[in-house]
Amino acid sequence: MTILPIQIYGEPVLHDAAEPISEINDEVRQLVADMFETMDAAPGVGLAGPQVGVNKRLFVYAWDEPGLSVRDVAINPELWLAPIVPESIDEVDPDEETEGCLSFPGERFPLRRSQRVLMRATNLDGERYELEAEGWLARILQHENDHLDGVIYIDRLAGNDWRMAQKILRKRRWGVPGCSWLPGTDDLEG
Ligand code: ZN
Repeated sequence: MTILPIQIYGEPVLHDAAEPISEINDEVRQLVADMFETMDAAPGVGLAGPQVGVNKRLFVYAWDEPGLSVRDVAINPELWLAPIVPESIDEVDPDEETEGCLSFPGERFPLRRSQRVLMRATNLDGERYELEAEGWLARILQHENDHLDGVIYIDRLAGNDWRMAQKILRKRRWGVPGCSWLPGTDDLEG
């Protein structure tokens, strides 16, 4: 298995819609194994094809909480979201609603997401499966599925958070093609 370089905001593959996977072959199986290893090394709780430069509709995810442990791949996923509670009713809680992205490394921003999702996806055996998720797992699935549509959570920010993200893009010279980092090798905190 190989740890793959993770593309950073600005690399075109991150901002395009990804293509469906038509066949689960050795190439896909190898990619999934490498994506798990890359996600674990980062470390992260989800990693989508475009983040490792592959314009395909798949992501890996892993989540543990009391009573729930999941670790799987979602190939050609479809998501149904419960309605999002409008922010005007209830302010975003920075402790409970903050997320980060390995393609915008070292930063976190609060973002309102749907609290519940239903996902249908294909696993490596080619079988369609269903997963109902709440809370953090629901957030992970929405975040990763967004990647397959060329959307990074930064694009969903508004107001001061959006402006702060733009500042970071300029300061770190991201937002242009050609930036990536290698988990286990590169120091992200600098
Ligand atoms: Zn991400």
